[in-house]
Amino acid sequence: MDPIHLHDKTFIPYLSEQEIHDAVVLLARQINLDYRGKDLVFLSVLNGSFMFTSDLMKHILLPCEISFMKVSSYQGTESTGRVDELIGLNSPIAGKHVILLEDIVDTGVTIDKIIKLLELNGPKSIEVCAILYKKEAHIGTNIPKYFGFEIPNKFVVGYGLDYDQHGRNLPAIYQLKN
Ligand code: 5GP
Ligand code: MG
Repeated sequence: MDPIHLHDKTFIPYLSEQEIHDAVVLLARQINLDYRGKDLVFLSVLNGSFMFTSDLMKHILLPCEISFMKVSSYQGTESTGRVDELIGLNSPIAGKHVILLEDIVDTGVTIDKIIKLLELNGPKSIEVCAILYKKEAHIGTNIPKYFGFEIPNKFVVGYGLDYDQHGRNLPAIYQLKN
């Protein structure tokens, strides 16, 4: 694989399509075993996890729901600052087992926020499944139960992940060249 250029930066090949595929199949297999007989809903966090979600779901053999959502932060009207909101969560999750699908868990701040908001809806359980996990950057409280690769604290693109909105379409994962 050759390096690629997005905007002003160069990225070098890091994880191939085949390596990603193999990891996705293993994740699906684990979930198929762990969630047998459970009322399961996948919540995919857009935009980054669209490709991972699509690939993973092809290997999930259980009855399940799949839903998509976004997290938005907006400036509150009071001086309390930012308020976080889940956009598009239209599947009731009360009493259900939830698997949150993420492209990458970096500091973990995002999944912590999402989980806090989802818990208000009374799910039976919430776990996180991410294709990438930057363990050394993690400072949050929730750890992904399922992840494809533990990667160093370097910026990556491809397989849904963007650099300034470009690169999401790449089927492999690339690391910023420095
Ligand atoms: P966290 O809240 O865990 O620090 O990061 C959450 C979000 O930051 C991810 O869902 C992703 O959108 C973005 N992010 C973190 N690390 C990377 C990276 O290496 N590359 C890209 N493209 N996005 C990242
Ligand atoms: Mg994301």
